[in-house]
Amino acid sequence: MKYQGRYFNGESALGFPAEISLLDTCIRIEYLESDVAVTVDWAVSEIHKVENLSKNELILFYGKYPVHSLKFDDFSAFDALKNTYGSASFLKSPYQKILQLKLSAILVITSILIGLIVLSYIFLLPIIAEKASVKMPPSVESYLGEGLNAKLLSQFELDSVKTAAAQEIVDNLKLEGDDPLTVYIVKSNDKNAFAIPGGSIFIYDSLIYSMNSCSTFVALVGHEYAHIYLRHTVRTLIRSLSSYLLLTFLFGDATGLSAAIVQNADLLKSLEYNRDLESAADSFAVEFLVKNGFSGRHMGELLETFKSEKGIKVWEIISTHPDVQSRIDALKVHSNSIPNQDITSEIDLKLWDIVRREN
Ligand SMILES: [Zn+2]
Repeated sequence: MKYQGRYFNGESALGFPAEISLLDTCIRIEYLESDVAVTVDWAVSEIHKVENLSKNELILFYGKYPVHSLKFDDFSAFDALKNTYGSASFLKSPYQKILQLKLSAILVITSILIGLIVLSYIFLLPIIAEKASVKMPPSVESYLGEGLNAKLLSQFELDSVKTAAAQEIVDNLKLEGDDPLTVYIVKSNDKNAFAIPGGSIFIYDSLIYSMNSCSTFVALVGHEYAHIYLRHTVRTLIRSLSSYLLLTFLFGDATGLSAAIVQNADLLKSLEYNRDLESAADSFAVEFLVKNGFSGRHMGELLETFKSEKGIKVWEIISTHPDVQSRIDALKVHSNSIPNQDITSEIDLKLWDIVRREN
């Protein structure tokens, strides 16, 4: 269908009567200039304005210098324009343009927000995890510990005889505070020991075969107990799982958090504490030994024993291999003033014989 109108080429003020066709990609304008037929095609993308709608006039503007314009005789051509070029920018109302601007502003703000979330994920999450674990009430920690214990015990073969003897040794040790400490001796060819939040220690029987005295065993217990008492385990565990826990929190429910931690109980077997925490646990163990009538030097002996061991698969206590010697050196300074001999240990060594005995 052709429309009638007047074409202004930017030079003639009167314009030319023209026939207008709405083609797919352009508007075709045909007119006579000095009796010569002229055809002009307007690329739709170059039409930048439609005007005077309120006065029932329909004028399109095209190009820049000079600006060409086209006035339709029939205002109803506007519907035909919308039908043919509905998505073209010149047909969008100022309101729609503002909306578009707002949309792009929203897009920019959203990108900035996503950027911030990524940055907080990398930098803030560990800090938040740290704070959350520090504030975790003891009741939640022991509830968590029960779940972790049950899950881990189902994975191991418990040596109940050795466990009973080891527990009797531990029951005779002076602890910090009133919370009990539970020890489990499990059968495994690996050499490992690890602590559970809430107050349990798992020790692999193969690890005990490397020890030559009950005092080094007490040093090991003291070191693992430090990770529990000083809350290294719960802090490191939550920190290691922080991104996983965040996802659980976002897409699941908050009450599922402890279940999520228990699901990852395996992580405890190879949890690596940072060097500062290991050193703190070593120092704690020295004090623990002395408090229980042993020489604090046994903690250094324990590290020396383990350092010389070969074929260690996972070993919490010397997981930070390059640091072991510096830890031993630090302990020597720490325990220089401590006598070499055990002072008043009241442990029944028959119990140690049971724990140490190779099956
Ligand atoms: Zn440790």
